[in-house]
Amino acid sequence: MMGGMRWIALLMAPALFGQDARKFLDDAEKNLLRLSTEAAQADWIRANFITYDSEMLSAVEDERAIAEGVRLAKGATKFDRVKLPPDMARKMMLLKLGLTLAAPSNAEESAEVTRLAASLEGTYGKGKYCDESKKCFDVEDVTRIMANSTDQKELLEAWTGWHTISPVMRNDFVRFVELSNKGARELGFKDTGAMWRAKYDMPPDDFAKELDRLWEQVRPLYNSLHAYVRWKLREKYGDAVPANGPIPAHLLGNVWSQDWTNIYKLVAPANADPGYDLTEILKSRKTDALGMVHYGENFFQSLGFAPLPRTFWERSLFVKPRDRDVVCHASAWDIDFVEDLRLKMCIDITGEDFYTVHHELGHNFYQRAYDKQPYLFRDSANDGFHEAIGDTIALSITPAYLVKLGFIVKEPDASKDIGLLLNKALEKIAFLPFGLLIDQWRWKVFSGEIPLEKYNEAWWQLRLKYQGIAPPSARSEAFFDAGAKYHVPANVPYTRYFLADILQFQFHRSLSQIAGCKEPLNRCSIYGNQEAGRRLNTMLEMGLSKPWQEALYSLTGQKQMDATAIRDYFAPLQKWLDEQNRGKPVGW
Ligand SMILES: [Zn+2]
Repeated sequence: MMGGMRWIALLMAPALFGQDARKFLDDAEKNLLRLSTEAAQADWIRANFITYDSEMLSAVEDERAIAEGVRLAKGATKFDRVKLPPDMARKMMLLKLGLTLAAPSNAEESAEVTRLAASLEGTYGKGKYCDESKKCFDVEDVTRIMANSTDQKELLEAWTGWHTISPVMRNDFVRFVELSNKGARELGFKDTGAMWRAKYDMPPDDFAKELDRLWEQVRPLYNSLHAYVRWKLREKYGDAVPANGPIPAHLLGNVWSQDWTNIYKLVAPANADPGYDLTEILKSRKTDALGMVHYGENFFQSLGFAPLPRTFWERSLFVKPRDRDVVCHASAWDIDFVEDLRLKMCIDITGEDFYTVHHELGHNFYQRAYDKQPYLFRDSANDGFHEAIGDTIALSITPAYLVKLGFIVKEPDASKDIGLLLNKALEKIAFLPFGLLIDQWRWKVFSGEIPLEKYNEAWWQLRLKYQGIAPPSARSEAFFDAGAKYHVPANVPYTRYFLADILQFQFHRSLSQIAGCKEPLNRCSIYGNQEAGRRLNTMLEMGLSKPWQEALYSLTGQKQMDATAIRDYFAPLQKWLDEQNRGKPVGW
């Protein structure tokens, strides 16, 4: 019986061989390069000139590129049984994994899921709420209030108000999950979440376990930070903050409680002022937007990287235009996947944007480093790597480096390190559980483990479990609080940001060792060290051509992601937090 079936299948299957595979891949790379370049050009115009027409044209180009991606992903499955050389097999795999959204083959359903995706993102983009006096607030207003206010009533209103933008998304999102899962199943995945997890060069379930392992490595530091911050907030806000329970989500300086830097002033240690303010320095030196970018470029050049191409300076957007709408959210572009690199950013002369410039240029230098690879390998080793490179460089913006730039005359002494470290922990350590839980929730939603009548309940269970925070007003299934975070309606996978947060410290630790830094990690800067630059470039050049474990190994000598580098970097802070927390409750 089995034999007979096989015989028939063999007779009916078209004979596919290695040379067919090579032609298929050559055509795929040629088509994708052309379509992606055209889509990037249309997208660049849309982002720099937001008009009805530029949005229409960009949507058409995007749709063409996605349709070709789906066609090629399905085409690649035809070679599943053909034995191929490793680089060709890897390209086939990447074609199958390249999609974030797999549209079902049914034309009506495909159109529906694309429309839902656009409309969910659009609903978020237009999101605002209005108070009793009919004054309305969008995401930028909410961000400003959360960052600057210490008025509990105002914070509660802003937090609760922002979470009214998303219930309207709920039904669309449910249908979106259903259709995108259907598309993922047609490509052979269990569901969309499994498709996302499959991109990490290991079995999807092993990857999930790997994240748990990393989280367990950093959890003690997070718990210490949480306990200290809770105690300081309790000093400020009284019984609104429980002594040993979760922190109310509206008091952490950010509407998603994902970055606590804005409450630094409420929790700052005494006598920790480093004696300088980067924003003030940049302003007093009359640094302009172009100057900010040159500082970033100069850092990479000091490591041995070539200067950015002339077209970068001609075609980028650095200053917010006065006469038209642009997407100001900072981003780095690689229009032709070779040399046409660009930055799009409405640069403010602030310390924060100084760091952001380095983050974005990290993308651009990565893009150029892998531009000799075949098209399908022109990407980072995994998506966390791309987000981590610029931040790795930014970890080298130490007081000693600022002395080299002539920004400050001498380094503040080591007693000021605690303030600098605490400030960085409020950004990087506070973020970790948030970076993890978004996809913990979404993967379970895609798999059906979280049924739709428990979307919001499960969301808050995860927020409690990982972040130790609680909603400040009553929640129920009438709300859809996950939808109040951009990446959920916009369907952008989020685990990359968690990985980037871990990887940047691992990279920094290795690069500091290569550069021969003998000081504590938080005082190491690799500025001007060509050997560190060479080793970094070796990893960047590999692009996506090899499993990420090999790229990681080439720089760090490790094949596993390792959060002990974070523990090392923050070791002085951990010690200080332990002293502060003595006799106080830790955990929730
Ligand atoms: Zn980025």
